Amino acid sequence: NAHDFRGKRALVTGAGAGIGRATALKLAELGAEVVALSRTQENLDSLKAENPSIEIICVDLADWNATREAVQKVTPIHLLVNNAAVALLAPVLEATPQEFDSSFNLNVKSILNVTQVVASDLVDRKLKGSIVNLSSQAAQRALKDHIVYCGTKAAVDAFTRSMALELAPKGIRVNSVGPTVVMTAMGRIGWSKPEKSDPMRARIPQGKFAEVEDVVNAIVYLLSDKSDMINGHMLPVEGGFFCS
Ligand code: NDP
Repeated sequence: NAHDFRGKRALVTGAGAGIGRATALKLAELGAEVVALSRTQENLDSLKAENPSIEIICVDLADWNATREAVQKVTPIHLLVNNAAVALLAPVLEATPQEFDSSFNLNVKSILNVTQVVASDLVDRKLKGSIVNLSSQAAQRALKDHIVYCGTKAAVDAFTRSMALELAPKGIRVNSVGPTVVMTAMGRIGWSKPEKSDPMRARIPQGKFAEVEDVVNAIVYLLSDKSDMINGHMLPVEGGFFCS
């Protein structure tokens, strides 16, 4: 294996399904001690059945205090993947305050929360770390009906830069990955209809959506020492969408 995470502890949020689940499984395969945090117990149970070495925590990241307590208990965490998010789609003229608040609460505020607990513990223990936040192509491009989601992901990129700036002197790197559409449960919300997916795919020079594995590979690279001098960046995983 090009990547070896033996001796490292990793935390993946939103690890019950989709990209987070695949990331947790891959990090365990590469030797990390993995903690999978998510909201639905059944999904975590089936993850544990798939790889019994993975430690599971069921907590709602929307709950600031419960999340802090749960994360504190599993420190130290050398590798953090802030993956959990929600996509609540609505046009500009119809998005509600509830959609705004719950989206920003999970997609942005919970990243601040989890990162504070993980990074302050690393600083106390004088350990190095690497953090990857899940951004999106939506951070940099307008997508119809995605105003709130786009806003949260642009905020994630801004968080990535601020965190990288302040945590670099402590030996902690922070980057994000920005996938195009991936056909997970979330991907299906916005893109399962051909009248939506066909024009989107046509804007991607490689002519296809990303696979979960494409995103996991980028996350693994940014977590690893192979990306040692890469800090504060969003790595697009978008088949050239930004060039088109
Ligand atoms: P999914 O919806 O497939 O999975 C999201 C996971 O997050 C689920 O396990 C879900 O738990 C968990 N989760 C949701 N809300 C909470 C909460 N309040 N507390 C704890 N866990 C929670 O999403 P994807 O795998 O597709 O997305 C992963 C990341 O990638 C997200 O940040 C997303 O924005 C980003 N992304 C996705 C793209 C796509 O097209 N799919 C494209 C670009 C970026 P539960 O088990 O309850 O469902």
